[in-house]
Amino acid sequence: MVNATPALHPSLARVLWWDQLPTELTEPIGRPLDQDTSADVAIVGAGFTGLWTAYYLKQREPDLDIVVIEKEIAGFGASGRNGGWASAHFPQDDLAVARHAGVDAARAFRTTMNASVDEIGRVADSHGWDIGWAKGGSVIAARTESQALRMKTAYQHEQAAGLEPNYELLTADQAQARIKATGVLAGTYTPHCAAIQPARLVRNLARQVVSSGVRLFENSPATSIEPGIVRTSKGCVRARYVLRCTEGYTPNIPGQHRTLLPVYSLMVATEPLPSQAWDDIGLDGRPTFADGRHLVIYGQRTADDRIAFGGRGAPYRFGSRLDPASETNSAIHHDLQRTLREMFPVLSNYRFTHAWGGALGIARDWWASVGLDRTSGMGWCGGYVGDGVTTANLGGRTLAALITGATDDPLVHAPWVDHRSRPWELEPARWIATSVGMKVVSSADRVESATGKTSLRGRLMGSLTGH
Ligand SMILES: Cc1cc2nc3c(=O)[nH]c(=O)nc-3n(C[C@H](O)[C@H](O)[C@H](O)COP(=O)(O)OP(=O)(O)OC[C@H]3O[C@@H](n4cnc5c(N)ncnc54)[C@H](O)[C@@H]3O)c2cc1C
Repeated sequence: MVNATPALHPSLARVLWWDQLPTELTEPIGRPLDQDTSADVAIVGAGFTGLWTAYYLKQREPDLDIVVIEKEIAGFGASGRNGGWASAHFPQDDLAVARHAGVDAARAFRTTMNASVDEIGRVADSHGWDIGWAKGGSVIAARTESQALRMKTAYQHEQAAGLEPNYELLTADQAQARIKATGVLAGTYTPHCAAIQPARLVRNLARQVVSSGVRLFENSPATSIEPGIVRTSKGCVRARYVLRCTEGYTPNIPGQHRTLLPVYSLMVATEPLPSQAWDDIGLDGRPTFADGRHLVIYGQRTADDRIAFGGRGAPYRFGSRLDPASETNSAIHHDLQRTLREMFPVLSNYRFTHAWGGALGIARDWWASVGLDRTSGMGWCGGYVGDGVTTANLGGRTLAALITGATDDPLVHAPWVDHRSRPWELEPARWIATSVGMKVVSSADRVESATGKTSLRGRLMGSLTGH
């Protein structure tokens, strides 16, 4: 451990979750790499993916020598800033997984995803971590007729394919009993989601892996990742296995700029709300919530009774450029506040205290994937499209199983293992397609909200995203 506690990076200082951390969780956990070293496994990126991988590798083989190399500090990326939905969502729905791998495989994968939510809670409990956990499920309100129709149709399609939907359809009364938002016409509910405080989870996890003997090098950006070697400006790490766990930041790694598209998701949080406000909002038991619009929104009632609420819509930057300015896009933050107050008018009486953002990664076919090339020793996991909290836990367990050669473990045969997505288009095609796509999605929501009718543009987006 290093003693001095430097000021938080400005990107993190804005984040509700980091603002809430006790000092012992903001103190540096690792030190910078300052000389060449070697290990059995070198993991690049200390978010959920990299840290869960280290955690489960140590569970399987305590003697493995593992190094984690982090550009900033553990949890700096999306893992320390997200909406805290530990959901059982995978970026492709069950129908798409069934089309790809068959109904039985899709069913088994659904069970695995559901169990992964509980696995996070189990590990946190086993170490005594307070991660603000509430397994209140997730409620999605249908607030236009077209949203309600989409939910019903998706449910029927899953049944017709021989799948058991992982959620129930709600009538207007049933939905309003869970979420008292304006204009709720119907909805869905799944019990398979927990609300968490993600920075508490990622920082506790980092401390745990270090205490189990993993060497964590913070403030050590990898300048290249190649078979057998990770280079930084101050030294390199030679290892039999090299794992890329950099999700939304992947385009910055040499040779990887078309692997994942970086997309910024932005969030706001209210002050803690008194019980009379919650009488008007609902969300008893802290289910995470959203509505059925195309341009994703997501919210949770936090352990200290705020609402943390986020959404997409920040513009894509030409060349997949990662730009911290995207995290402070005031127009999007303002839209998020407006949307939340429109859902819950009582919020006009209360303040918003935090506004922040972060980058997530999307593969060309919107599939997350995990894999290990045994010949080169290179492994990867990511492309979660905003469903990474739980999937990264599964990814960490899967990478650990792959590296330790556990060929009899069902995890290594799941439909996303070794899935290869083709690279994103060269610019300017990537910029044009992404910018047009974003506009189509926003206008589809506007049309549906104004007319109540299902928008053709929304259907077009559905076909682009594989849902
Ligand atoms: C605002 C927001 C809200 C979200 N909400 C949810 C949600 O509610 N539920 C959900 O399931 N998912 C959500 N997500 C997505 C989820 O947070 C991510 O998918 C997940 O945290 C990814 O974890 P990771 O470890 O793969 O990546 P990250 O947490 O991004 O970690 C990658 C790490 O790699 C480091 N790194 C980058 N480049 C280098 C380099 N060259 N050398 C060394 N290190 C490097 C970064 O600093 C970072 O710490 C959200 C994402 C965002 C941004």
